[in-house]
Amino acid sequence: MRRLVLVALLFALGVPAASGRGQVSGLRAKAFAIRLAALGPRPAGSVNERRAGRMIERELRALGYRVRVQPFSLPRGGQSRNIVGTPGPLRAIVVAHLDGVSAGPAANDNGSGVAAMLEVARELAGREGLLVAALGAEERVETGSSVHLGSARLVRGLGPADRRSVRLALSLDMVGVGPTLNVRGLEGLPNRSARLALARARSLGFPASCRQDTGQSDHAELTRAGIPAAWIQWRWDSCWHESCDRAHRLEPSKLAVGARLALKTARSQLARADSFN
Ligand SMILES: [Zn+2]
Repeated sequence: MRRLVLVALLFALGVPAASGRGQVSGLRAKAFAIRLAALGPRPAGSVNERRAGRMIERELRALGYRVRVQPFSLPRGGQSRNIVGTPGPLRAIVVAHLDGVSAGPAANDNGSGVAAMLEVARELAGREGLLVAALGAEERVETGSSVHLGSARLVRGLGPADRRSVRLALSLDMVGVGPTLNVRGLEGLPNRSARLALARARSLGFPASCRQDTGQSDHAELTRAGIPAAWIQWRWDSCWHESCDRAHRLEPSKLAVGARLALKTARSQLARADSFN
């Protein structure tokens, strides 16, 4: 009864009702992506990338995460940084890059992924074993690097024990626009993370299909470091890397599917870890 009153009160105040466990909100995710996009372009090393990082850091701290900021140098000078919410013994990783190209506000690529990652972080706050991170400097067209620098920095910070214990790694990149839901990986056949995500998508009734990829997102650096990772993406977005990649185009229902798929897949691996204890 008290919860009903609280929900009614929030509704009356115009605040989206807090979701229960296992729920994510596409509308809340879109609202966060709008805030990110409103900063303007946020290429690696820019003031706006740093501002976005601070916004994400505040969100994660408010959810109770211990937050670590990982700075790293860019090949053309300056610094980018990862915002990492740290767990206990590592079981699952969910990342999304927070930088964007300088052509526009980068709402789908990748405000959408960051907002979906925060939905996952919200639902799994307080659970041991989940590392969530907003990664800097993914866009190679901006950094001039051949690798995704933020994810490369993240894996350098993981010790051998962490790498061995990770069962699942997901990158949320472009999850707000497009007709087709893909689970992607570098391998010809789906790797462990992709198999887990595809199986979960089937059980949730999401029409996900597997698609090989040549290494166009942060899952590439994780996979190459020995942590087989999958990329969750709605595709194709005709405004990719264009000035028209704006927040009004993001579909809350797609954001919710991306977030929910990552959440349910990650939770299944954390639950397994818990059952060992
Ligand atoms: Zn991207």
